[in-house]
Amino acid sequence: MKRALLLFGLSILALAAAAQAQYTPWLYWTFLPKAQMDEIAGEASGETAWRTVATINAYNRDRSREEFTGTFFETQYVFDQLKRYGLDNAQIVTYPGGEAWRAIKGELWEIKPIRQRLASYNDMVPMLAAGSSSTQAKGDLVWVGRGTPAEILAAKVEGKVVVTEGNVSAVHSEACLRQGALGVIAISQGRPDSGPLVIPWSGVAARRRPPIPGMAAAEASDQAPAPKPKFGFNLPLREGDLLKKRLQSGEMISVEVNIESETLPYDMENIVCLIPGTEPDSGEIIFSAHLFEGIAKQGANDNISGSAAILEVARTLQTLIADGRLPRPKRSIRFIWGPEFSGIGRWVQENQAIMEKTLCNINMDMVGEWLTKCQATMCLMRTTYGNPHYINDVVENYYRYVGEGNRERIQNRSTAYPVPRRVVSPFGADEPFPYSIETHYGASDHEVFNDWGVGVPGVMMIAWPDPWYHLSGDLADKSDSTQLKRTAAIGAAAAYTVASADDGMAMRIASEIASNGTRRLGHQFMVGLEELNSAKPDSLAESFKSARGFVEAALLNERETLASLSELATDRPKVDAHIARMKKTVDAVGAAHLAALQAHLETVAAKLGTQPVVPVLSDLEKRAAKIVPRPTPKVRVNGYRGYTKLIDQVPKEERAKFPSSQFGAGDFRGNTAELHCLINGAHSILDIKKMLDAQSERKTDLQQIINYIQVLRLAGLVEIKEAK
Ligand SMILES: [Zn+2]
Repeated sequence: MKRALLLFGLSILALAAAAQAQYTPWLYWTFLPKAQMDEIAGEASGETAWRTVATINAYNRDRSREEFTGTFFETQYVFDQLKRYGLDNAQIVTYPGGEAWRAIKGELWEIKPIRQRLASYNDMVPMLAAGSSSTQAKGDLVWVGRGTPAEILAAKVEGKVVVTEGNVSAVHSEACLRQGALGVIAISQGRPDSGPLVIPWSGVAARRRPPIPGMAAAEASDQAPAPKPKFGFNLPLREGDLLKKRLQSGEMISVEVNIESETLPYDMENIVCLIPGTEPDSGEIIFSAHLFEGIAKQGANDNISGSAAILEVARTLQTLIADGRLPRPKRSIRFIWGPEFSGIGRWVQENQAIMEKTLCNINMDMVGEWLTKCQATMCLMRTTYGNPHYINDVVENYYRYVGEGNRERIQNRSTAYPVPRRVVSPFGADEPFPYSIETHYGASDHEVFNDWGVGVPGVMMIAWPDPWYHLSGDLADKSDSTQLKRTAAIGAAAAYTVASADDGMAMRIASEIASNGTRRLGHQFMVGLEELNSAKPDSLAESFKSARGFVEAALLNERETLASLSELATDRPKVDAHIARMKKTVDAVGAAHLAALQAHLETVAAKLGTQPVVPVLSDLEKRAAKIVPRPTPKVRVNGYRGYTKLIDQVPKEERAKFPSSQFGAGDFRGNTAELHCLINGAHSILDIKKMLDAQSERKTDLQQIINYIQVLRLAGLVEIKEAK
């Protein structure tokens, strides 16, 4: 029986290997029929999207005072374009945003020995660090190198303006707020590929770092209320180096500073619009892009590009539907632009009823860069196992179509069209589309949707790296209309696929997930093999457990991804029957991988001169396998991150009974958000551990997972069902 299973497994493996083979130059496909794909790829205009980027961020703008009382420039532009495109339901939705800093003037002049201007807000907005206070002052310059506390102490900076190649905000905190300097001039170090003429978007704030041991005066002053920030200027490397050399040669230089700034109340502005489907209750797809990086801080790629691309998705679909070139889909497609996390998060929180019927989210952040100039790859960041969804494979389908279709292959270099499925903007780059389908990464607005309190699976489209990221050089000249056209076409095609999907499409997507899932399972199988390959005799048992866990976790995810398609079904039994058959396919692949891991274990054990281990669950694992936590309605009731209040309300002494330092509010880059989402009433705690470990570099502690789930139970967010 075992042997038969192994043989069966190996034959499935051979199939899996075939599925993993490289794409051939004669096979191109999309979920949408070719005629519809051609309409979308033809209509999507990279030039239109590029004009949006150039209009909003050809250069770094000085924001006018009127924008604070009226509407921000970029909000008005996007809103006006939507109206022009016939998206009449577009709305600007505002929420109070608190106060924002605004500069009126920021001049830095050398007055001795030369009279010359060193920096000006008028020349380049980020030359004046955001948060700089109104200042009229004269002072001598003093060089402090990288600006470590010791360098600053040695330089005796009190009453002087420090010049540093360190970070303006850190040096400001130390030199100005603790050691009495007047202000900071920072020489930008840029990034390796960004050149000598960029400066960072940076700020100075009224905060201090912990005192340096042995500095009694500073310690005393740390008890006083936080002082007002002073000022900071940023110089590009080329100009800054001249100043550095003069100071290092011992020259005495005096400057005069003249800054006027204010803080103004502002509103967080979101723009929302909808392309209504024919069946408003059959669900929605939502596109998101942050239109504001900050109120002062701007960026063409981060993220006017994503804003421009989803605007072009809206125009493309609206035009094609209005012209009758695409039938109106049954599901609606919604769009939201706003301040990153804060604005979009607030809108999502206020619109929980819409979220309940939203199927998935496509977030675009940094999608416009000229890929070859930035040496970048266009990435699709998939959802985690906690948000399994077919949207991953739907978007992947169109990445592959554009990626495989836009490069010349050696097989057909002289016999066929060199680039067979050209998606190129008339004034954009004519280059390949290097793409990559990757595991989850957060840090943008899809995380608002993926949040436990919202539960809308969201993917991110993003090109990376970007040498101008968060620098003054992140301007429209780094954007490429071809890249924007391809991005808009992929987004529009993916959303239209979901919005228009009938039962036949749902089943077709299920089959493709089973195919792609074979590849993903194969990857986890390989990760498991490496775990065994690196095992020592005494760690072989644990390694084998982990290796099996990787495959088992991936298999659970593939099954749940397939199950997500049920929401598209009209004839539910028919679609579910097909899904069940595709689940059997991935089950068989997973079983084959587990059998192969067993075989590999035997070879590793022989090499290590030990016996193959029989996996045995520890008592804790046995217990964890029986506990199935289920979320309560309180998780969703307060929408985006609303549940955090309930966690905070758990009394400290209660919480202390369940130590779980790996999880909780302080775990910014860790697994807590994913742990939340994996609690679904079906996963046991042992499943949850496997699914966390399969996705993370860091192994989680099973007892801590159990403890943290107890904390969630105390918060009223989770019920625990213990199986027999
Ligand atoms: Zn961004």
